[in-house]
Amino acid sequence: MSRRLVVMILVASAATAFRTPTHAQTPVHARIDAAAAAVNDRVVAWRRDIHEHPELGNREFRTAKLVADHLTALGMEVKTGVAHTGVVGILRGGQPGPLVALRADMDALPVTEQVDLPFASKVRTEYNGQEVGVMHACGHDNHVAILMGVAEVLAGMRADLPGSVMFIFQPAEEGAPAGEDGGAELMLEEGLFATDKPAAVFGLHVTTQTVGTIGYRAGGIMAASDTWRMVVHGRQTHGAYPWGGVDPIVTASQIVVGLQTIVSRQSNLTKAPAVVTVGQFNGGVRSNIIPDSVVMVGTIRTLDPDMRTDVHQRVRHTAEHIAASQGATVDVTINLGYPVTVNDPELTAWAVPVLERVAPGKAVQRPAVLGAEDFSYYAQQTPGLFLWLGIVPEGRDPAAAPANHSPLFLADEGALPIGVRVLAHLAVDYMTTRGN
Ligand SMILES: [Zn+2]
Ligand SMILES: [Zn+2]
Repeated sequence: MSRRLVVMILVASAATAFRTPTHAQTPVHARIDAAAAAVNDRVVAWRRDIHEHPELGNREFRTAKLVADHLTALGMEVKTGVAHTGVVGILRGGQPGPLVALRADMDALPVTEQVDLPFASKVRTEYNGQEVGVMHACGHDNHVAILMGVAEVLAGMRADLPGSVMFIFQPAEEGAPAGEDGGAELMLEEGLFATDKPAAVFGLHVTTQTVGTIGYRAGGIMAASDTWRMVVHGRQTHGAYPWGGVDPIVTASQIVVGLQTIVSRQSNLTKAPAVVTVGQFNGGVRSNIIPDSVVMVGTIRTLDPDMRTDVHQRVRHTAEHIAASQGATVDVTINLGYPVTVNDPELTAWAVPVLERVAPGKAVQRPAVLGAEDFSYYAQQTPGLFLWLGIVPEGRDPAAAPANHSPLFLADEGALPIGVRVLAHLAVDYMTTRGN
């Protein structure tokens, strides 16, 4: 009996619309693992090469060429220049079935590397008018090398794949340079999912947990990161006669205090945490002048899309009503950053046995973090799952390890084959257990 036939019978006999994967390793999984082991030396070499030659967002020319040449050599349909420097490859399986998307981000950061490695970055460039070092301080070099490895593994099984895989190599996750667009949002605007819409999208990020572990969480895993700016308009007067004007410093101070109750008194924190921060407060020039206006700037972090909208409304409402109570006015501007990165709860539950098969006893639930990720845009269009991949060497305290974005950030290469296996297992299991 062909493997395809086995799959069809199993799918047909499933009580629900799809089967749940099991922990059990089947011949197809053994085949993935053998292919992942065979490509590992090259994955390590790609990662070192990319690490040594990091490129900032929208400038990933060398990295994109490396990726595009690899995908082309594997016989994929390849698109380059997507959202400036992005590369998208589609691997059409030999059997009909769903399309699954896998995503890696390619950009580095304006950080001067301080890690003592033979392949440490010595690259320098100009960023927003400053001369800076460039480093893969967020570990995206690992993501690119892993996804190139997955491409090789799955291309080797193409004839047997019951579905297709979209490989997304994305520029500018850390944000485009000033005055430019970029990243996931631009790839989608350019029609990434317009003709080939994936049934699911998977991605991962290296992080400071022990190598060998995979972290997951259903629902909001990374925050929406929005910034706000307020201009409180009073009426300037002499500091000795405050009744002659409207004091924007006192009004703005009351707004600062009022904002504190949005999270502590008004938000349902059993649903998700949230943060409202005032980061800047500017007004006045000297002791005896009550100024005309005060400018404040801050950030809002939320982990639930509905709470995000709700907190924004409460920030406006609080500021406007406090200002009105003082005879002042306020202009509130909220600039939307990346949305909440939401792991589809049902897709996450489906994936847990896959994670446990790939990393027995080391697939761990993790709390959410208040950093932001533009993987969120893909997961708004189709069910998504974003995972954490541990990179702290065994025996070291993850809490003491240099965090992502540190000039000392260091990824243990033992994480690479786990990254390749987890994405390949997820893609193949999705196609075999959730296809029609
Ligand atoms: Zn980062
Ligand atoms: Zn990152």
